[in-house]
Amino acid sequence: MAQLLTILVCGMAGLVVGSFLNVVVYRLPLGMSIVEPPSHCPSCETRLTLIDLVPVVSWLGLRGRCRHCGARISWRYPLVELSTGVLCAATAGALGSVWPLPSVAVVVVCALGASIVDADGGAVPLAFALVSALAAVSLLPIAVVLGHADRLAWAALGLLLGSVGAFVVDRAHESQRWTRVVLLGCLAWTAGWLWPGGGAFVAAWIVVAAAATGLGATRRAPLAMLAAGSVVAVLGSALISRP
Ligand SMILES: [Zn+2]
Repeated sequence: MAQLLTILVCGMAGLVVGSFLNVVVYRLPLGMSIVEPPSHCPSCETRLTLIDLVPVVSWLGLRGRCRHCGARISWRYPLVELSTGVLCAATAGALGSVWPLPSVAVVVVCALGASIVDADGGAVPLAFALVSALAAVSLLPIAVVLGHADRLAWAALGLLLGSVGAFVVDRAHESQRWTRVVLLGCLAWTAGWLWPGGGAFVAAWIVVAAAATGLGATRRAPLAMLAAGSVVAVLGSALISRP
């Protein structure tokens, strides 16, 4: 019952975070502030109120149109909100403990946000890598508090293998290289932390295998592919080593 409640709360929080992620993935690559101006309709510029901003529900209730001018609102907004909600709920479901949950959820959501920007053809903002790194580092004290200090060595191995693998194999553009290395390294670190003995190897292998495929004219694997594989490794690691 407690587990179900955690999944539900995490899923709801994920929907709200997804709503914010919509703003971040649009504004950050354009160098815009993420707080100013407040959310508004891009057509009539009317400022949106709370009732327009309920994740997924508002879009469905208004049938994908602006309440004021009737302009179409892209289905992408509810899709990003729903994806973030489902991802956060899945993370809560895979983890047996609530302690590492916020850190792991942030690492996973950063991977999603960065993948969306990359899929849009924009440069992934460094902010995603920084926030992901902070969340990954926060697993250090949590391991000590939980008496899992041994997991830190596995996490470090994941970071080493994942980031070196991404650095060597991923054909990212020079300006994006370090952002991708940090993001993928943080995911492998998290997988290593969650599943001592296995997570580090599986996550790093997935990063290298996905990067080596190099799809498209640029021969560069989409970040979404690398990140999705790593997120599966993280959630799988959590499931395998559930307490
Ligand atoms: Zn409008």
